[in-house]
Amino acid sequence: MTQQHPDRSVFDQVMTPNYAPLDVIPVRGRGSRLWDQEGREYVDLAGGIAVNSLGHCHPELVAELKAQADELWHLSNVYTNEPALNLAQKLCDLTFADKVYFCNSGAEANEAALKLARRKAWNEVGEEKHEIISTRGSFHGRTLFTVTVGGQEKYTEGFRPAPGGITHIPYNDIAALEAAISDKTCAVMLEPVQGEGGVRPAEKAYLEAARRLCDKHNALLIFDEVQTGVGRSGALYAYMHYGVTPDVLTTAKSLGGGFPVGAMLATDEAAKALVVGTHGSTYGGNPLACRVASRVLDVVTRDEVKANVEARTAQLREGLQRINEEHRVFQDVRGLGLLVGAELVDEWHGKAKLFLQAALREGLMILVAGPNVLRMAPSLLVTEADIALALEQLERAVAQVKSETAAA
Ligand SMILES: *Cc1c(COP(=O)(O)O)cnc(C)c1O
Repeated sequence: MTQQHPDRSVFDQVMTPNYAPLDVIPVRGRGSRLWDQEGREYVDLAGGIAVNSLGHCHPELVAELKAQADELWHLSNVYTNEPALNLAQKLCDLTFADKVYFCNSGAEANEAALKLARRKAWNEVGEEKHEIISTRGSFHGRTLFTVTVGGQEKYTEGFRPAPGGITHIPYNDIAALEAAISDKTCAVMLEPVQGEGGVRPAEKAYLEAARRLCDKHNALLIFDEVQTGVGRSGALYAYMHYGVTPDVLTTAKSLGGGFPVGAMLATDEAAKALVVGTHGSTYGGNPLACRVASRVLDVVTRDEVKANVEARTAQLREGLQRINEEHRVFQDVRGLGLLVGAELVDEWHGKAKLFLQAALREGLMILVAGPNVLRMAPSLLVTEADIALALEQLERAVAQVKSETAAA
């Protein structure tokens, strides 16, 4: 029997146990506020894990979705459609890309990028040029190929045999990349900021070296901007902030503002390897998704949004420093734009979850990035008042964790 307002216990009865959701069930959202089943209000600095780029239920996105719902929902790629063409055109106008491939998630965008790299190398050189270089601590999605390229052992455990020819090197280490890359390398995949891996920004010299080495060895430089993309970094894509242009870029999360959509952007030179029949997705380019994403891009590229990202980033980072002056719990506050990480001091390592839970009790939603780092990825439209309130809530949460829990 189904209930109209199922509670959290139903999750354990009917959902696969691969997640452990928190106890509250949010039922409504507006901007950077959420309300749960009991009507309790929360400030949302988690943003659906860097997805709700314009907050919850942004009126312009709601209007696009409703309008498209009355026109056309789905065709498949046997036909193209106007929203997909419009979105692809916009992405090409706004970025380095000449060509766009649509899919529904970050993992799928990365899967497409990796398959493209293998196929291009196979076309031009042969099967021996199949090696892929990635970095330790990176995250690229949960398909078998993308967890294998990702640099976190725990995600491949128990799923072998895995695709081969993949090497992991330390992040931000130019010498390690120089030593690993060769003419057998078909691609180097990098996040400009490692998101899940602890909010670690790349150094500019590192990305520049990656560009130079990929050119030297005829390998594709792939930037995974699934988390950093669509205005979060302060630039439309983080590669623009760094001034280093990839051959292929993957984008998802913020692109749909909460509606599932992913895309792989590529130069003509790279994209031409994906000839008819080489790859595809039933839902890729779905009109509902593309219509919403087009409007996300329109809003995110407005000057006032960029200005807000800059101002709110400064406010949030200063606030975290202030909390730290009082409580000494962070050894580093870092990130790029509104992707902010606060690494706990050593004695609190392993306990990031405690802070997340305490924050929730104070009415604040944040994220963690691994066991040692608190992560915030709010709406790009988050207001000064929301950040101010969030910082008060976070300070109370930090004080509470400290008073209740003896550090290890
Ligand atoms: C979230 C994320 C992915 C995976 O995206 P999904 O939509 O969950 O498949 C890939 N790469 C990065 C950098 C991410 O942050």
